[in-house]
Amino acid sequence: MPIHEKSLIRKEDLVTHERLTLEGVDVSGDWSTFIQPRVLTNYNERMEQEIAALPGGEGIHRCWQCGSCTNSCTVNAINPDFNPRYWIYLIRLGMESELLRDKDIVWQCVSCNKCTYACPRDVNPEGVMKATAHWLELKGYTKPSPAAEFDAEFSEQVFATGRIEEGRVLRNFFTRTGQKLNQPWLVALVQGLVRRLPLGYLLRLGQAAVLRPRARRWSGARAGIEEYVRERRAADRRALALAPEETEP
Ligand code: SF4
Ligand code: SF4
Repeated sequence: MPIHEKSLIRKEDLVTHERLTLEGVDVSGDWSTFIQPRVLTNYNERMEQEIAALPGGEGIHRCWQCGSCTNSCTVNAINPDFNPRYWIYLIRLGMESELLRDKDIVWQCVSCNKCTYACPRDVNPEGVMKATAHWLELKGYTKPSPAAEFDAEFSEQVFATGRIEEGRVLRNFFTRTGQKLNQPWLVALVQGLVRRLPLGYLLRLGQAAVLRPRARRWSGARAGIEEYVRERRAADRRALALAPEETEP
């Protein structure tokens, strides 16, 4: 399907001549706007299959390009370059090099799921955005996003103790992503909590932070969850024809 929306054409691909006359007709300025021809060098015929094999991407083949996802998207309202409909279009055509032009903003999906409710074809565009961000990471095109770092920290704590301790999650997330702990909003949040929460609750929070208690009979559940995660990661890598991780059996 050709795309004619001018807003979707990158500025560097548009050429306008201040003064131009063609066959005696003055087409100066906007009248002489051309789209620069480009050669796509990086087609990936398996791209749709690869993303459909990742969690969330399963419904991508149902997309009929109505654009309801992009129209309802929270991030698109702030940044028009964030365009789920367009990315699904590129993925289905295997236009990998085109998608890579936006690789650093795909992760910005905030999982509000407005697109999911708006989609008439049950594509689950939110899931497709997550699968696409995951695909970009697995392929080595992007570093793990802050969202992926947060998920990793959260999961590691659950694996270790069967619980999470919010303060530790935040601290370690900030360290993993190279952010300072003394962010003004965080300082204000902590000060507000200290002022409002009962002393007994604060003491229990402090105790949990130091002692890191485990959920009861956690080791059996942990083994099951870890096995599932290992299998899932191995399946994701197989779907993308990537070599197994060193820790895989
Ligand atoms: S879930 Fe993501 S893609 Fe969907 S509307 Fe929200 S921000 Fe946009
Ligand atoms: S709303 Fe659904 S069918 Fe429409 S473009 Fe988005 S993903 Fe495709």
